[in-house]
Amino acid sequence: MNTDCLFCKILAGEIPANRVYEDEYSIAFPDINPQAPTHFLIVPKEHLASQAKALVEHEQLLGHLLVVAANLARSRKLDKGYRVVINTGEDGGQTVHHLHVHLLGGRPMHWPPG
Ligand code: 5GP
Ligand code: ZN
Repeated sequence: MNTDCLFCKILAGEIPANRVYEDEYSIAFPDINPQAPTHFLIVPKEHLASQAKALVEHEQLLGHLLVVAANLARSRKLDKGYRVVINTGEDGGQTVHHLHVHLLGGRPMHWPPG
């Protein structure tokens, strides 16, 4: 647990979040400022500051987060598609420095992203 980290505080139950999914390695909850009709954050229980810090030892965890995203998308019937995003660092638009996967769906997405 990183005491300065918002998502560590959510994981510790210090800040409330509606856990739509939880397992040994991760939780998922709705984004407080949704950018699409469906917008979940999938957050590993281990504090890893950023995708930029990923090492070979994180392979299993990172793969797991994508499978959780796929399961959530299926459970929410995002049959027309969706987008998964990992904002990374300043240029990537990352604002919370605890790695997380955004799952966005329920509307067409644009490319290139902003
Ligand atoms: P980032 O910008 O780092 O990729 O994503 C951080 C996300 O966390 C943002 O989309 C923001 O809306 C969301 N967020 C920030 N604070 C809270 C909070 O207290 N609760 C929830 N559920 N989401 C939050
Ligand atoms: Zn954290």
